[in-house]
Amino acid sequence: MENWLTKRARLTPNRVAVADGKKQMTFDQVASEAANIAGKIAALRDKNERVALIMRNSIQGYLVIMALQQLGKTIVFINRRLSAREVNYQLADASVTVVLTDDNYDKKLTVTQQIKFSELPESSAAIPVAEYPEDFVTSVMYTSGTTNNPKGVMQTYHNHFMSAVGNALNLGLTAEDTWLAVVPIFHISGFSILMRSLIYGMRVMLVEKFDASKINKLLIQDSITTMSVVPVMLKQLLAELPKNVNYNDKFRAMLLGGGPTDKLTLQQAQAHHLPIIQSYGMTETASQIVALDPTDIHDKLGSVGKPLFPVSIEIRDQFGKSAQKGNIWIKSPTLTVGYLNQPAKLTKNMQSGWFNTEDFGYFDADGFLYVQGRAGDMISSGGENIFPDEIEATYAKMPGLDNMVVVGVPDQLWGSIPVAVVTGVNLSMDKLRQYGRDNLAHYKVPKHFYIAETWYHTASGKTQRHRFVAVLSELKELK
Ligand code: ATP
Ligand code: MG
Repeated sequence: MENWLTKRARLTPNRVAVADGKKQMTFDQVASEAANIAGKIAALRDKNERVALIMRNSIQGYLVIMALQQLGKTIVFINRRLSAREVNYQLADASVTVVLTDDNYDKKLTVTQQIKFSELPESSAAIPVAEYPEDFVTSVMYTSGTTNNPKGVMQTYHNHFMSAVGNALNLGLTAEDTWLAVVPIFHISGFSILMRSLIYGMRVMLVEKFDASKINKLLIQDSITTMSVVPVMLKQLLAELPKNVNYNDKFRAMLLGGGPTDKLTLQQAQAHHLPIIQSYGMTETASQIVALDPTDIHDKLGSVGKPLFPVSIEIRDQFGKSAQKGNIWIKSPTLTVGYLNQPAKLTKNMQSGWFNTEDFGYFDADGFLYVQGRAGDMISSGGENIFPDEIEATYAKMPGLDNMVVVGVPDQLWGSIPVAVVTGVNLSMDKLRQYGRDNLAHYKVPKHFYIAETWYHTASGKTQRHRFVAVLSELKELK
């Protein structure tokens, strides 16, 4: 396909491409500035096809992304919040020689050239590539690292294009669309907004930091139409949003995904008439592949919806046979072509074009998908399957409890039992146990409760269960 940026700049040169509250640029301006920056990057004379990028959600970072695509480079996105040790692991994993960073980034990394955006050498503009080849890996994006070390997912232009098409067929497009991007660009939730913007001709509003009251103001005052959020952001927005206040009239979609959301939060969102689109996807699928229409949210609260048009889904048991409940298998043109340097990791989960997500779930009679959790988190206790996500979501409504993570521990009698790690105020073993007994089947109530000293989570707010398992024996038990 023709270069998306130059194509878009010819189609709608004067439409606003990007804004950050202070400044805005049209597609035409973006195309010419991206060519300028591409010239500077080319002057580094780095032969490596891959370049690593560490950035905040800023116009400057956005322009560098566009510039790298103009040069036909593969962008290796690095999570800006990682420690130098973690970044060095990913830089070595991706064998890059150049890392470009925003001007405020001051960690010293082990790489041949570490260059701040403003330190790029002066040079004349580059000639943009004519094509964005379908099979070209334009981005390498690391998974959140919820279950283990993040894996570098290779995403092609075809993946991003089909993802944008699937989303547009679901949401529809209008000439006035503006997508607010406060989810990090180094995750697929953020980067996919930039690719959609080129394909749709849509304005992107970049916001660097998530501050709930500022975001609420923007959504009330600016003509934002769409926003992507992870569950923890939605909770904070709701906590800050005054009663009877609604977002601007044009606001039509709040895409929610990345992890499970408890029902209380969804009900609060309904009370504010937020057009929540519950969705399910992963880095490996270049963003959402399943979405719930807001008109269905009443009847299907807790479901992630139906597979998008280009996507097929099957539920299979551990032997790969069709099942009522089991692993979620997908077939999608947005599926990654592989994990960087670890081809076996993808092939072990592939069968005749189908991919085992290792998430667990089921379809209801109307074809709505429910995600129960990760298969690896499932606790088998006395013949019953227990999903920590369900227990945590139930406890989310308990007053005084701030955080809870449930894990399975071996047990002689039951095989495995659920125990919980918590933070909060005025908690006691009795209160926690009683709450569980009032709201859950007996076997799902955690048998022991431990107090957390540190809350382990990823940059996008996902609790890292395995890290609690590792320290469980050192934690104080609530009596
Ligand atoms: P890692 O693969 O490194 O452990 P991760 O799987 O958390 O990290 P992502 O690709 O960011 O990295 O997240 C995708 C996963 O998030 C899905 O496989 C699923 O487990 C979970 N998830 C996404 N959306 C939902 C949802 N709506 N409900 C429940 N779980 C979800
Ligand atoms: Mg994953």
